[in-house]
Amino acid sequence: MDFALTEDQRILLDSFEKFGRKELEPLADEYDRTKALRDPAVVKGLLKKLYPFGAVSGPIPEEYGGLGLDYVTTGLIAEKLAGIFGSLGGVCLIQTVCGRLITESPNQECKKSILPAICSGDSIGCLCVTEPNVGSFAAAIETALKKVDDGYLLNGTKTWISNGSISDKAIVIATTDRSLGAKGLTAALVDRDRSPYKTRELEKMGMKAFPTSELIFEDTKVQDNHLLAEPGQGLKTTLRTFELARSLMAVGSVGMSRAALALAVRYAQERKQFGKEIGSFQLIQAMISDMRTRTDAAALLTYRAFWMMDQGQRCDAQSAMAKYYATEAGVETASECVQILGGYGLSEEYPAERYFRDARMQTIPDGTTQIQKLIVGRDTLGLSAFV
Ligand SMILES: Cc1cc2nc3c(=O)[nH]c(=O)nc-3n(C[C@H](O)[C@H](O)[C@H](O)COP(=O)(O)OP(=O)(O)OC[C@H]3O[C@@H](n4cnc5c(N)ncnc54)[C@H](O)[C@@H]3O)c2cc1C
Repeated sequence: MDFALTEDQRILLDSFEKFGRKELEPLADEYDRTKALRDPAVVKGLLKKLYPFGAVSGPIPEEYGGLGLDYVTTGLIAEKLAGIFGSLGGVCLIQTVCGRLITESPNQECKKSILPAICSGDSIGCLCVTEPNVGSFAAAIETALKKVDDGYLLNGTKTWISNGSISDKAIVIATTDRSLGAKGLTAALVDRDRSPYKTRELEKMGMKAFPTSELIFEDTKVQDNHLLAEPGQGLKTTLRTFELARSLMAVGSVGMSRAALALAVRYAQERKQFGKEIGSFQLIQAMISDMRTRTDAAALLTYRAFWMMDQGQRCDAQSAMAKYYATEAGVETASECVQILGGYGLSEEYPAERYFRDARMQTIPDGTTQIQKLIVGRDTLGLSAFV
């Protein structure tokens, strides 16, 4: 087992750290308030700068416009980005996941015509599974895809869609036959230029700069050659992508935890009460110890999942463990950071309250903590709690 970074990884991370602290960190609190990432031009400008670091399409093969990075390196960059600007990390996560889904699809035409612009960030993607009546139980999807002479028509509403309002392309999981349940699902790619769809922004507690939207499809045209999965394989295709999505969510929480820990440590070393640094009190040290240990445990679980992907192994259970442990650890760690900063932890003068609000978002998307636990339970017991 080798926990050391390679020389290439170290150089990449160092240059990304310098870039991120200078160019991104000053935007994080401001954009949280102004919601500037709701402007696609602003997002595309940032994606262009992030692309060379592998933050937008790191693991996508170079032939499609990605960087062809390994998953561990992709995770290292995603961790650092989330620690600097969580919302922007979210935008990049979706972009990477859309890129991977198209890469893995059997649709050669979309790989050639659409993937390069997703990889470069010139085109923004979103992945639409959730609906007003359909959350954890994706097999019950109601959005319908109907064959017509020259393509398909899409009808339905998707909700909580990351990057939805700023998207140029929407990958929509839809049913061609509801009576077939999961076996009736497919993945359709909607090109917003040719087939406009309406969106509505949803306001939320954390990751406020990260657009999250409702998407409405009303007889929206899908081109004949824009299906990304064979009929019946839509859920399977998406679930395979979830390995990466969950690992990226987990590593995002590791980044947020590290940022919260670093802030708490700095503050505890400087702030004096009772005539001494608060960091010298044993109860503060216990919190710092817990924060650090939890963050390291989360990182180890998460990088194992990335490593398994690099070995070409499936890691459904391992990415589920990483997702639920790291995201829950992120919430506890960010909460303890707030506690250590006392009143200042709740003030907008410090980023602690944003770390907490952002970390709290992470336990829900891409499968809640409870769903991840059921995946691990099923893998361990050979018995499924799902229908
Ligand atoms: C910030 C954010 C970004 C998101 N981005 C996207 C996106 O880009 N694309 C997309 O498609 N969706 C996205 N989502 C939606 C997200 O994936 C869903 O919110 C999530 O899957 C849970 O669905 P739900 O909210 O409908 O909750 P529900 O499924 O209704 O669950 C409600 C509660 O019941 C629990 N529960 C459900 N089933 C079980 C069970 N069998 N056993 C035990 N407990 C159970 C859940 O854990 C939860 O606590 C996003 C959500 C958020 C908050």
